Amino acid sequence: MSLSTVLGYAAKAVGQPLEPFTYEPSKLGEHDVRVSITHCGVCYTDIQGIEDHYGITTYPFVPGHEVVGTVSAVGHAVSGLKEGDRVGIGWQGRSCMQCEWCLQGEEQLCQDIGNCGTWKPYGGFSSSVVVDGRFAYPLPAAMSSEVAAVLMCAGISVYTPLQSYAAGGSRKVGIVGVGGLGHLAIQFAHALGCEVTAISSSPGKKEQALKFGADHFIITEDQTSMRQVRLSFDLLLYTSHGKSDWTSLLYSLKSNGRLIMVGFSDDPVTFDPLELVVHQMSIIGSLIGNRVAMREMLSFAQAHGIAPWIELMPMSQVNHAIQRVKENKARYRIVLFNDTVGADT
Ligand SMILES: [Zn+2]
Ligand SMILES: [Zn+2]
Repeated sequence: MSLSTVLGYAAKAVGQPLEPFTYEPSKLGEHDVRVSITHCGVCYTDIQGIEDHYGITTYPFVPGHEVVGTVSAVGHAVSGLKEGDRVGIGWQGRSCMQCEWCLQGEEQLCQDIGNCGTWKPYGGFSSSVVVDGRFAYPLPAAMSSEVAAVLMCAGISVYTPLQSYAAGGSRKVGIVGVGGLGHLAIQFAHALGCEVTAISSSPGKKEQALKFGADHFIITEDQTSMRQVRLSFDLLLYTSHGKSDWTSLLYSLKSNGRLIMVGFSDDPVTFDPLELVVHQMSIIGSLIGNRVAMREMLSFAQAHGIAPWIELMPMSQVNHAIQRVKENKARYRIVLFNDTVGADT
């Protein structure tokens, strides 16, 4: 292995377990930074990436997009970052910076979004990664690296829609799913001053949901409780990816209510159009967040003590970590710490 070789963990084909994989580091573009990775969170999207759920995966595929590490090299046009800075990187590692969305500051909607992933060419389950420095965010000094890692994708994904649609005034918000995204969403919604109801299929999560800041807890299958919240919520944030009773969820929205999807549900959304029209409801998708929101989210999380629950594991156990996420056993996010650091130095 040459001194400059990067050591990562790659799937060689669709759905395959990850195996150690070495590659020559990408050359730095003028706006790029190389980041030596200390931590990387495991997100359900990584698993969908391995399975080519989005039709954009190329193999060998190194997943990982909740990255924290130290800047080890900077391109000559990079400003605001220098070697040694600790940064976080989320799903988006670059954008075209030229399309109508990038020019509006909505880089997450870039027309070339399929090529904007931190995964390209290789992601964060690795000793280092190269991204555009404009998508590497300095972290609050007091924030631990494992907490920051999870905030880079799970955090921004729930913060952006809550900040856009639920901030200001005591909104009634239902968080559907108390998992990796949901347990953070409860904390953000509570900190934004909302009245929060956690809606889960697991009765065992009640105590934890209340601890995260939920004011109420409802079991999805409990039809009586679901009927009691008919026309109650200003906003439902759907963070799950399993099967759902869409009709009873929509019934719980107030007039002008919004159902916001942040999880990629495997289950098609079906609903009664009568309900949607009569109560002027909206179903809205929300994808990560832009660069301004990313910086805001980090300082908001730091100011309000928002932090995920984390299982910390060595990166060499990445397949075990993936298995736990697949089986929905992680409580609530897994972060890998790099026990291969130094491989590319
Ligand atoms: Zn993610
Ligand atoms: Zn663009």
